[in-house]
Amino acid sequence: MYYFRWLLGFLHLLVWGSIILVHAIPPPDPVQCNRTICTLSNSYGAWGDRKDCSVKSVVYPTTEEELRSAVAHANKNKLKVKVVSQFSHTIPKLACPSSLGHHDSLLISTAKYDSSIEIDSVNLAVTADAGVALRDVIDKVEEAGLSLAAAPYWEGVSVAGMISTGAHGSSWWGKGGAVHDHVIGLSMIVPGNESEGYAKVKQIAAQDQLLNAAKVSLGILGVISKVKLSLERGFKRSITYNFTNDSSIENNFMEHGKKYEFGDITWYPSKHTAVYRYDSRVPMETPGDGINDFLGFQSNEILISKSVRASEKLFESTKSVNGECTLADTTLWYKKQIGNGLKNNGQIFTGYPVVGRQGKMQTSGSCLYSPKTRIDASCAWDPRIKGLFFYE
Ligand SMILES: Cc1cc2nc3c(=O)[nH]c(=O)nc-3n(C[C@H](O)[C@H](O)[C@H](O)COP(=O)(O)OP(=O)(O)OC[C@H]3O[C@@H](n4cnc5c(N)ncnc54)[C@H](O)[C@@H]3O)c2cc1C
Repeated sequence: MYYFRWLLGFLHLLVWGSIILVHAIPPPDPVQCNRTICTLSNSYGAWGDRKDCSVKSVVYPTTEEELRSAVAHANKNKLKVKVVSQFSHTIPKLACPSSLGHHDSLLISTAKYDSSIEIDSVNLAVTADAGVALRDVIDKVEEAGLSLAAAPYWEGVSVAGMISTGAHGSSWWGKGGAVHDHVIGLSMIVPGNESEGYAKVKQIAAQDQLLNAAKVSLGILGVISKVKLSLERGFKRSITYNFTNDSSIENNFMEHGKKYEFGDITWYPSKHTAVYRYDSRVPMETPGDGINDFLGFQSNEILISKSVRASEKLFESTKSVNGECTLADTTLWYKKQIGNGLKNNGQIFTGYPVVGRQGKMQTSGSCLYSPKTRIDASCAWDPRIKGLFFYE
């Protein structure tokens, strides 16, 4: 019992300590090369040593023509080829050209193909290069007084990686919360014959049946070079979390989804607790300049991440139900205190509802932007530390 009380106290201390934390290490580059070989890893640490994915070479195109040339080179030389973004966040090992060895493989990284974001305010659309970061698109769109209605919660994704994997937020309204359902066109580079220079750019428009397959193709139909997304007039959201008893959750969830445009429920079965997110669109004039700096995507002190992982492992191996429950209580208690990372004025959580612009309320990932100068914090799952990990 003493140990659990100690643990609780320790975690509270660390957790509160993390509020004042500002410096941390940004995620590692998923591609690492030495003189003879390159290794691709997953930024979440799900896979990534030399045995998992090694490739002979990696290219970093900066324009659509360079991207086309890379596909042409692979086609002409019969190389196995895959694309990866600067983030490499998807958990299955889909971006690896070959698990059998590296001799005939080429990896195309879109990390440097990220310069163009074109907004068409009249037709409410944005077209971005495949490698552009989601956050850059959101910020540009919001600057133009518009909003992207759907986006994943995690912002560390590229535009093409995000649609290719069917990444989503939460909504049953309108076109729904999956980003690929808001795609209204794309350009894809596919192999061609010799007279076509071994690769060609195919434009796929909204009415083209092929769009349904191409937009969620996990990188196997071709290399997406540009993505066109539909937009809406800028709007704000009002969010309140209700931490409550989970009784009747099976009856409540349909109503919840119908009532709140961006509704969401987090269920903690062992705590008999459900956290209902009351989340609705409100007009731009509504006062409030809040942000959703989701707790799970903030920088964490490395010591906390390691301690939590070590405690989980200990409780798991000793089958300690009390330990697991104490840890769960602490996490839930803390999430409640800080509104899960909502910040009314962009700095701290002072109470519900928190109102802010769509671009600041849907998607977050502040652990991505940590300066390299200090090394005491990181994204909680950073594979360089033995931090948090969810087995999916
Ligand atoms: C901490 C964390 C939080 C997450 N949160 C969410 C979330 O809120 N919602 C959600 O839905 N998912 C979430 N995910 C999953 C992940 O973010 C998505 O799978 C995301 O789409 C990955 O994007 P990426 O740019 O990193 O793509 P990558 O991992 O680089 O690539 C993903 C796939 O797309 C292909 N691809 C990449 N670029 C191209 C291109 N130009 N042309 C063709 N194919 C291409 C790759 O070959 C690969 O098959 C999360 C993952 C982590 C680790």
